[in-house]
Amino acid sequence: MYQSTLPGQFLSISESQADSIALQSNAEQVSYGDLKRRVDKVGSYFKQIGIEPGDRVALVIDNSVDYVTAFYAIWKVGGIVVSLNPQAKFHEIEKLIQQCEAKCLLIDKLNHANTEQLNQLSINMITLNQCDINGVANWSTALECEADNNWYSATEDTLAQIIYTSGTTGNPKGVLLSHGNLMCNVKDIIEYLELTREDSVLNVLPFHYCYGNSVLHTHFSVGGKVILAGSMAFPQEIVNTMREYKATGFSGVPSTFSLFLARSDWPQDPPPLRYMTQAGGPMGKELTQKLLQSSQPDTKLYVMYGQTEACARISWLPPHKLDEKLGSAGISLTHVDLEIRDENAQALPNGQKGEVYVKGPSIMQGYWNNAEASEQVLLNGWLKTGDLGYLDDEGYLYLVGRNSDMIKVGAHRINPLELEEVINKLGFVQESAVIGIEDEILGQKLRAFIVGEESRENLLALKKHCNEYLPTHKIPREIQWAEQLPKTASGKIKRYLLKS
Ligand code: ATP
Repeated sequence: MYQSTLPGQFLSISESQADSIALQSNAEQVSYGDLKRRVDKVGSYFKQIGIEPGDRVALVIDNSVDYVTAFYAIWKVGGIVVSLNPQAKFHEIEKLIQQCEAKCLLIDKLNHANTEQLNQLSINMITLNQCDINGVANWSTALECEADNNWYSATEDTLAQIIYTSGTTGNPKGVLLSHGNLMCNVKDIIEYLELTREDSVLNVLPFHYCYGNSVLHTHFSVGGKVILAGSMAFPQEIVNTMREYKATGFSGVPSTFSLFLARSDWPQDPPPLRYMTQAGGPMGKELTQKLLQSSQPDTKLYVMYGQTEACARISWLPPHKLDEKLGSAGISLTHVDLEIRDENAQALPNGQKGEVYVKGPSIMQGYWNNAEASEQVLLNGWLKTGDLGYLDDEGYLYLVGRNSDMIKVGAHRINPLELEEVINKLGFVQESAVIGIEDEILGQKLRAFIVGEESRENLLALKKHCNEYLPTHKIPREIQWAEQLPKTASGKIKRYLLKS
C-alpha cells in the first residue's frame, strides 16, 4: 500500500524498515531510520532560517547522502526542490537561482569569489565545505540542529520539484512537478520493474536529471537500497562495486553500457543483476544485442523512453518482447496515454509517423514562471514531446527523431541556442551554429560552425571562452569555420544541411 506522496512514503518506510539500508556510499551505510533522523535535523534548520511551504531551495551538489538528506528535508518543510547540475558554471547557476527565485542554496564546488558573489543575492547559502564568508552557513550547522518531528502534509497537488532542461529559446526551462506527478510515475515504474525491498540498485546517474531522480525515488518507495557509485570514467570500478555490494539492478544510458562492454571485464564475467534499465536516448540494435549476449542469461534488460516534462518515464519495452520488437521504445506506462499526431494535432492511425503526444497524471504542471513556453507544449492536458515516431499494429512505439533541435550528449539534454548565445558574445564571431553529430560512445557530440575570421589566435580565444562559460559536456568537441550558414528565407538556420 503506497502513500499518496513520496515524503509520505519515505516516512512510512523509515518507520516500518528503520534498520534497512537506504544508501550505501563507499563504506558508509545509512539506514532509513538514520536518514530520517538526519532529515529531521536539517528540516528544523530550514525552518529556523525561514524556509516556508512553496519556497524553492536549490541543490547544487553531487549525488551523496547529503544530497538525499537535503532533498527530503526540503519536502519535510513543504519546500520545492530545485536540482541543479553541480558541474554548471557559475554564470549558469546564478541565472537559474534567479529564475526560480530560490530562497536557499546548498553548494559545495564554487570558489570563494563566486560564493561571495552569490551571497549578495539575498539568498541563504549553505556549503558542504569549510567556508568563512560572513552569512554563509556550514552544512554541519544544519546536521547538528535539534530535530523536530513535524512534517508538512503535502497533497498530490503540492508542488514538489523543479528540474531544469535546456529551453527552445536558449533559456533553460524549469519543469515543475507536483507530488502527484512524481508518485504516479514512481508507482508505474515499480510495477513494471517488479521492484521490491530486496532490490539494491547501483546508481551512477546524476540525481539532478529526471532519470537519476526516478531511480532514487522508485527504490526508496519500496524500501530498497541505492548504492552511490563514482564516475563512469572508471567503468571497471563500477562493475567491481556492483559485484562487491551484490547490486540487483543497474540503470544507464547507452554510453554507459558501451563503456562497460569496451572497458571492463563485464563481457568475461557479467555481474549477476536481476535487471538493467536503459533510457536517456536511443540504444542501437547492435549494442542492445551485444549487451544481452554479454550479460547473465537471467538478467532482464528494460528499454525505456521518457522526458523530464513527463516526470521521467513514458514507455517501456517488456524484456520478453526485446527480440521481437528490437528498436522499439515499447508500450506506454499504466497511467500514460500516448498518441501520434500530425502537425494539426490530429491523431494518426498506427503505422503513420507523427509527433508523440502524452497525457496523464505524471505530466508536468508547466514550466516555472514561463507561461508562454508551457502553452507551446501543453495542449488540453496533452504534452507535445517534440519526439517523432509511430506505433506498430500492436501499439509498440518506434521513435524516429526529434521535431526540435535538441541534442543529447550522453545523459545531457542540450539546446544549441544556449551554446550559440555564449559563443556569439566573442567579438570576432559574426554568428554560429551548433549541431549534434554521431558519436560511438555518447550517442552525439557537439560540432560548432563559426562565421568569423579564422586564425589560431581566435581559435584559442574561442576554446578559452567556452571553458570559462560552459560546463564540460556543453563544450563543442569540433570547430568548423564557415563563410556563411545555410538559412531559410525567414533567416532560420537550416541545421539539417549542416548535418549533411
Ligand atoms: P535523463 O536526461 O535523466 O537521462 P530522459 O532522457 O528520460 O532522462 P530528458 O533529458 O528530458 O529525459 O530527455 C528526453 C529526450 O531524450 C526525449 O524527448 C527523447 O528525445 C530522448 N530519449 C529518451 N529516452 C529515449 C529512448 N529510449 N529512445 C530514444 N530517445 C530517447
